[in-house]
Amino acid sequence: MSNCAIVGINWGDEGKGRMVDLLTEDYDIVVRCQGGGNAGHTVINEFGKFALHLLPSGILRSGVVNILGNGVALDPENLLAEMEAVRAKGVEITPENLKISDRASLLLPWHRDLDALEEQRLGDKKYGSTKQGIAPFYSDKYQKKTILAGELFYPQELRSHLEDLLEWKDLTLTRVYGSRAYTADDLEAWLGKYGEAVKPFVCDTGAYLREAQERGKNVLFEAQLGALRDLDFGIYPYTTSSNTLAAYAPIGSGLPSLKLTEIIGVVKAYSTCVGEGPFVGELSGPEADKLREAGAEYGAKTGRPRRVAPLDLVATRYGVELQGATKIALTKLDVLGYMEKIPVCVKYRIGDKVTDRFPFPTELEKAEPVLEYLEGWGCDLSSVRRWEDLPKAAQDYVNFIEAALRCPIPYVSGGPERESIILR
Ligand code: GDP
Repeated sequence: MSNCAIVGINWGDEGKGRMVDLLTEDYDIVVRCQGGGNAGHTVINEFGKFALHLLPSGILRSGVVNILGNGVALDPENLLAEMEAVRAKGVEITPENLKISDRASLLLPWHRDLDALEEQRLGDKKYGSTKQGIAPFYSDKYQKKTILAGELFYPQELRSHLEDLLEWKDLTLTRVYGSRAYTADDLEAWLGKYGEAVKPFVCDTGAYLREAQERGKNVLFEAQLGALRDLDFGIYPYTTSSNTLAAYAPIGSGLPSLKLTEIIGVVKAYSTCVGEGPFVGELSGPEADKLREAGAEYGAKTGRPRRVAPLDLVATRYGVELQGATKIALTKLDVLGYMEKIPVCVKYRIGDKVTDRFPFPTELEKAEPVLEYLEGWGCDLSSVRRWEDLPKAAQDYVNFIEAALRCPIPYVSGGPERESIILR
């Protein structure tokens, strides 16, 4: 059996979706292991353009079985809307090609309420949440106060579990935030509508994966966001609330003893970041606008303009180490075609120190970029399919990054389409 994780090396939006879409050809099963519908993977193929939020990107390939593992934040309401949108473009989704772990916790309507209420309370100090309820969801999961998808099969016990949770959660909603309380009837109506609709997809995906492993099936693990958003090792507290690292994939998928054979880290040819938090080398004004427009850098989930910066090799090397990447896919090289000189952040200056090590989050706030400039290539790369056909300056840019990251870059993409990929 071969298995591979596709992970983000930076702040997310690196182009993981297109890499999963490309590589699913060689895999039987694609698993989402963490996170929820708070990010978006954009995939462009023969069916059209898709912004997938919770569905694994393998859903767009026929014959691939897709799994939402125990580690995901299962938001049935959003998942069903996403399934409808994908089906409307001619993609079939059935319990044969989509399976949901019975151990995945349900993201309930109050999680979204609490996310918005807390951001509002924080005012100027907000985290920049997508308000999809992810932080309140994971807090509740670790407090052991969520409903597991498998409980949908035990209505009597579920009712009593819900009542216990309701009593507790209503205290927070009304007494901490002065918001409205939920009733058991509200929740039963919600579960009747959305829980019942996802129930046919819910099964013991851990057992399914173990069996698939015995039959030698190839499994691809699809992570959400990137290493710098990892709860334990990222730019805390501007991280997400789950572990975005490859090391978590075996746990979040339901194969805890698995050893990954391949870890493909996706890196964008420049840096982008959505939301708040330190972002070294951030560009502003017309320079930022030009890069943002060239790369169409607007959030797939929220449409928010992404913050942009030169490629940050300090953060990227840290991301490669955290992910344990065995290979790199470098995306969006075409976007830099308009630049005469391409800035790259090679070190940080923090006070009177210069360092190439990624610092503790509090230090990061004070870091200034040390830039080097590489030659631009000044032309359109979107039709280039072979390494030999890339202009020398573009090859030099890729080689420079490869040497700095000390990790091979066998994939370079020069356009969003499935075929716009250069294999080295
Ligand atoms: P993900 O969450 O990591 O999958 O990344 P997103 O889907 O949010 O962002 C990547 C965006 O870049 C999507 O709109 C892709 O279609 C697009 N994209 C991916 N690779 C390339 C590329 O090589 N060139 C260009 N121009 N766009 C790309």
